[in-house]
Amino acid sequence: MSTVSIHPSVDHGIKAETPGFAGGTLTCKCTDKPVKVTIKAQTAHNHACGCSKCWKPDGALFSVVAVVSRDAVAVTENADKLKVVDSSATIQRHACTVCGTHMFGRIENKAHPFYGLDFIHTELSTESGWSAPTFAAFVSSIIEQGFDPAKMGDVRSTLKGLGLEPYDCLSPPLMDAIATHGAKASGKLPA
Ligand SMILES: [Zn+2]
Ligand SMILES: [Zn+2]
Repeated sequence: MSTVSIHPSVDHGIKAETPGFAGGTLTCKCTDKPVKVTIKAQTAHNHACGCSKCWKPDGALFSVVAVVSRDAVAVTENADKLKVVDSSATIQRHACTVCGTHMFGRIENKAHPFYGLDFIHTELSTESGWSAPTFAAFVSSIIEQGFDPAKMGDVRSTLKGLGLEPYDCLSPPLMDAIATHGAKASGKLPA
C-alpha cells in the first residue's frame, strides 16, 4: 500500500484524547518573544483540512485544526506580534507577523453558523490530551494548491487508513449544522 505524508501529528498514528482534558497553551514558532495563547477548554471537531487558508507546518499536505469556544481563548504573551492575515475572510486568522504561524481563527459575523467558535491548531501546544482528529475536510482542495490529481487515491486511502474519513467539504454533522442554521434563519425550520 502506498502512503502519503498527511501531517506530522497524524502520520505515525493518532493520539487518543484524554478524558477530562481542559486545555493548554499554544506557542508560535518564534524562539524570541513567542506569542502565547491560553486555551481553557477541550477542543471539538478536530480534523485534517486540505483548504488553502489553514496554516500548515512546513511540508505538510494538510492542516490539523479544531474548534473551541472563543470565550476560552486568550492571548497571554506578545499579542503585539499578531495580525489578521485576511480581514475579508470569514475566519479571521490571527497570525504571528514574524514566524507566520496562525494562532487562532475567529468568526466575527454573528449570523455565521459557527459564530462563537475559534479555530486552533493544538499541535502548537506541548500538552497532550486534546481532542483527536476524526475526519479530513476539503480533501480535493489540495489539488488547487498544486497536488497531483493522479495521486488522490493514495491520499484518500492513507486518510482512511488513519481513521480520517475523507470529505470534499466538511463532515456530515457539520454540513447538517450549517444547513439547519440556514433553514432556521429562512423560516423553513422552527427557530
Ligand atoms: Zn512567531
Ligand atoms: Zn482549512
